[in-house]
Amino acid sequence: MQVISRIKVIRGDITELPVDAIVNAANSTLLGGGGVDGAIHRAGGPAILEECRKIIARQGGCKTGEAVITTAGRLPAKFVIHTVGPIWNGGNTLEKENLANCYKNSLKIAVEHRCTTISFPNISTGIYRFPKDLAAKISISTVVSFLEKSTLPDKVLFVCFDPENFQLLQSELGDIETSNNPLA
Ligand code: ADP
Repeated sequence: MQVISRIKVIRGDITELPVDAIVNAANSTLLGGGGVDGAIHRAGGPAILEECRKIIARQGGCKTGEAVITTAGRLPAKFVIHTVGPIWNGGNTLEKENLANCYKNSLKIAVEHRCTTISFPNISTGIYRFPKDLAAKISISTVVSFLEKSTLPDKVLFVCFDPENFQLLQSELGDIETSNNPLA
């Protein structure tokens, strides 16, 4: 089966979707913040923060590009995978590599927990100011490369909160589809 058909770009609120794993664009303290992080903790309830605190006690937070997993609390999901996106600082401080690592490491942890469905927000494109067009290219290409080598997760959703990210990701996915189709 074509890898592209396992990826879907949609508009919406990531806290509302029933998937095995919801990815959170967290910060390195794992203590919650604004944006999608705040929305996930609000909707999921205190059980998520409780597990984050245990992780902090064990390993002292989460580094940029890495990911950790907790319960999803009251969310309609089994797990929340918290990953720490890079703060955009001009592009010469490993921001691109770190953003790719966020997607790779989140997918890796999802596979370790046998997740068949996973949803991603547009990591780093909010408060962390990563350019949306570049983030769209990196996120789609990283997920495509991962799925080419792994049968899990079966479905990857990109849940875009803002219309600009939705357009950018859709067109990125469309470009890959076209380049894979010699008759297009
Ligand atoms: P970061 O600090 O990594 O930039 P933000 O939470 O500020 O994280 O933004 C990341 C992306 O998440 C942004 O594109 C923002 O529009 C989006 N976002 C915010 N709330 C939600 C939500 N409830 N569901 C999905 N995406 C969301």
